[in-house]
Amino acid sequence: MKTKNSCVLKKALINLLSFSSLTILCTLFFTAFFPVSQADAFQAELKPASIRQGDAFLLRVTGLNRSIEPSAMLNKKPLRFSSCGEGCFVAIGAVDLNARAGVYRIPLKIGQHKSILRLRVLKGRFETIHLTLPEEKVSPVPEDIDRIKREAGLLTSIWEIDSERLMEGGFVFPLENPLSTPFGTKRIINKETVSIHRGLDIKGKEGEDIHASNRGRVVLTEELFFGGNTLILDHGHGIFTVYMHLSGFNVGLGDLVSKNDVIGFVGSSGRSSGPHLHFGVKVTGMNINPVSITRLRL
Ligand SMILES: [Zn+2]
Repeated sequence: MKTKNSCVLKKALINLLSFSSLTILCTLFFTAFFPVSQADAFQAELKPASIRQGDAFLLRVTGLNRSIEPSAMLNKKPLRFSSCGEGCFVAIGAVDLNARAGVYRIPLKIGQHKSILRLRVLKGRFETIHLTLPEEKVSPVPEDIDRIKREAGLLTSIWEIDSERLMEGGFVFPLENPLSTPFGTKRIINKETVSIHRGLDIKGKEGEDIHASNRGRVVLTEELFFGGNTLILDHGHGIFTVYMHLSGFNVGLGDLVSKNDVIGFVGSSGRSSGPHLHFGVKVTGMNINPVSITRLRL
């Protein structure tokens, strides 16, 4: 009986050891090192590999001996790679605020090599706040509805612009002040109208300088119904930053601006209750938490 028990134990231990070794081997193979052939090995990593709903991440491929551009897909949409030096390619990806939490598969292809990376998406920590506003600030009058529709169409056409990469290095905050309303906050106005905050509010004084978050081209300087004086920068590869409620612009449509250039001034234009900057980030049509893009080491 004793011998039988110890034999069962031994077997279980062997099974456990081989399972662990297999798990370690699989992990290494899928997330870290890809020995394609002796002449062509590389590393691929997701940074971070675990994000929250509405966050951006980086996919970086390094150590390629040849300059073959990788291709990768997330939710059937291609990620846009650009060179980050010899044998190095990097892409910014993101998941929508409403994306389901769970593990997402990212198929990666480099030449003949194919593999799968796994991105973990956790539920976002979004607050709910209740606001009371005068009814005329909540429900637009009929003549404003046409204007709102026209402006929504204009914005949609901007998100479709597909230009070459203009951004250089990481994204910075346009205003170094404390934050007020975070990204993803659910606002229940007058107990019934629900609005999701798809950007980040940064405190500011009337007339304070607003800086470009990265190098980019000015693709909009207009007064919009909700956003007031709104400025949009195109950073290339489907990435845009949005600056709303400005008191004035310091650049013109079509200008190419460098990171940190003063592009406009804090104000309270449009649907705003006081001077502040609404800072938004779009990645291939999705509204992304601006904090997450400033954390990426590009
Ligand atoms: Zn806002």
